[in-house]
Amino acid sequence: MTLRVGLTGGIGSGKSTVSALLRERGAVVIDYDQLARDVVEPGEPALTAIAERFGASVLHPDGTLNRPALGAIVFTDPDARRDLEAITHPAIRDRAAQLEREAGEDGIVVHDNPLLVEMGAAEHCDVVLVVDVPEQIQIDRLVRDRGMSEDDARARIAAQASREQRAAAADHVIDNSGTKNELVHTVGGLWDELVRSSAS
Ligand code: ATP
Repeated sequence: MTLRVGLTGGIGSGKSTVSALLRERGAVVIDYDQLARDVVEPGEPALTAIAERFGASVLHPDGTLNRPALGAIVFTDPDARRDLEAITHPAIRDRAAQLEREAGEDGIVVHDNPLLVEMGAAEHCDVVLVVDVPEQIQIDRLVRDRGMSEDDARARIAAQASREQRAAAADHVIDNSGTKNELVHTVGGLWDELVRSSAS
């Protein structure tokens, strides 16, 4: 039987690092950031629906999505954001389900989804892993590694579910406030547990 594992965490918490470690161990990882880009490629029904809802100004002249233009609309207008999500989230869910079917009947499939909690997808997982760090560490890493300003990092963190909301959905909280080596060790132990659960 496939063990469906949800993986989430705040921006800059170390989610991609954990997902890469799980992939190395043998998990099939479904990357929702990638799916979110795929469903708005030219020719996709979601892109057509976005252009119908928000107008041609959200497209570049070559027909690709103008992300900054769309972002400017949805960042300030909650209704617009809900409409956008009503278009993209079902398309993302369909693709994830398709990839999961393609992964076969056995093994560990990781749904690497920054919006796992916001999308209400945690309840569809057998196990939910949440990568967690104190907000100041999140900010420091985003400023250090991504060149973000501190204000930008804070605004992005504020736009996501809170640490408490994510923790409430978690079966395991992965504390990533230590070194990367410590994270490797923690994920190794968790992997062994996941393998045991998938075999039982
Ligand atoms: P996003 O949500 O933006 O995709 P993320 O949660 O996937 O972020 P990562 O990209 O894995 O986060 O990590 C953010 C940055 O912090 C990366 O540059 C990563 O190398 C670094 N990092 C991750 N874990 C640690 C750690 N334990 N110690 C120091 N740096 C770390």
